[in-house]
Amino acid sequence: MAQLSPLLKQATPVVVDHGEGVYLYDTTGKRNLDFTAGIGVTSTGHCHPKVVAAAQEQIGKLIHGQYTTVMHKPLLELTEKLGEVLPEGLDSLFFANSGSEGVEAALRLARQATGRPNVVVFHGGFHGRTVATATMTTSGTRFSAGISPLMAGVHVAPFPNAYRYGWDVETATRFALRELDYLFATVSAPNETAAFVIEPVLGEGGYVPANTEFFAGLRERADKHGILLVIDEVQTGFGRTGKFWGHDHFDVRPDVVVIAKGLASGFPLSGIAASTELMSKAWPGSQGGTYGGNAVSCAAAAATLAVIQEEGLVENAAERGKQLLDGARLVGEKTPQIGDVRGLGLLVGSEFVTPDGEADTATAQAVQKAAAERGLLLLTCGAHMNVVRMIPPLVVTAQQIDDALEIWAEAVAAGTQ
Ligand code: PMP
Repeated sequence: MAQLSPLLKQATPVVVDHGEGVYLYDTTGKRNLDFTAGIGVTSTGHCHPKVVAAAQEQIGKLIHGQYTTVMHKPLLELTEKLGEVLPEGLDSLFFANSGSEGVEAALRLARQATGRPNVVVFHGGFHGRTVATATMTTSGTRFSAGISPLMAGVHVAPFPNAYRYGWDVETATRFALRELDYLFATVSAPNETAAFVIEPVLGEGGYVPANTEFFAGLRERADKHGILLVIDEVQTGFGRTGKFWGHDHFDVRPDVVVIAKGLASGFPLSGIAASTELMSKAWPGSQGGTYGGNAVSCAAAAATLAVIQEEGLVENAAERGKQLLDGARLVGEKTPQIGDVRGLGLLVGSEFVTPDGEADTATAQAVQKAAAERGLLLLTCGAHMNVVRMIPPLVVTAQQIDDALEIWAEAVAAGTQ
């Protein structure tokens, strides 16, 4: 008899029967509030009727039209539709399947277009689990340990992580930019640096938003040295943060964005967007893949975009995100074990610490377990997995946020006893 590999580490013991909106129903019939959204994927909720209808219709017409062999309508239609929401000037799209593949595509583009070997990533960032993207991932050694040799040419600069440093945001930002210049002077010369690769909000690294001044500093250095600014919007894109793109909060122009997760409501689809000028510097035929831009995924993504627009999900994420952050902060203020509550839109994290400020992984896990027992599914993140994060589908209602906050308060009380 076969069984699932023990290498998978599962956050909850739940076995799902079906999902609907913000709820996951398990095989015992229990209804769970899903504040994980499949790690920020099911933006329109589980099995949104319009996404289901679009996918079902497409399945009957064409499941797989391999895009380096033939083109298909859903891919062309999605490309056109994405044109309405992509950052200005990024008018050229390449599609793949997973977020990791998207980041790898950006890396290849950056190296081929600049002819330079190095990339600079920011401490605490998560960019994937392939060997190249695991090398670029610094949100936890669990993603890169035991698989060396890793990829050469990746250098890590500080992220303006004010809470971690115990500074205010301005001081953390000044420090991070100064260290970036130091890295240029000592480790990776600017003219050997192809790209900065950064998340607008550290996701797996603990839900830490960047800031406008930091991005202005990156943009200035990118322009000065011909370095590409690659923004990994895999977790933050498509309305998750209460603006369409995470970087919209920070008034910055990316050269490349990486997209995945919320794009297709759960169907595997990722990609990169850049200007046609930049994309044409990549070597034709050097990228691709058997399944990239799958027809059913593209149809689901086009429907997802329509739902995001029609149902005002970006605005909902902003409003419900504020409600969630305010509520989580109230719990945080009453709980000495919660050192910080932070987030942007519907990305909210509560960081658990010991009395002397060290990461308190055990308490975070106890709270997560207590929440799951009460029907609220949550994930942890952060280098020490001591940040409990809430990342519900963007269709979440005010009532569902209240319900989740009620369970959250109970779970925190139970887990911190
Ligand atoms: N980048 C970011 C910012 C992510 O959050 C993730 C997934 N958590 C990835 C890349 C990798 O995506 P995937 O798991 O689809 O390869």
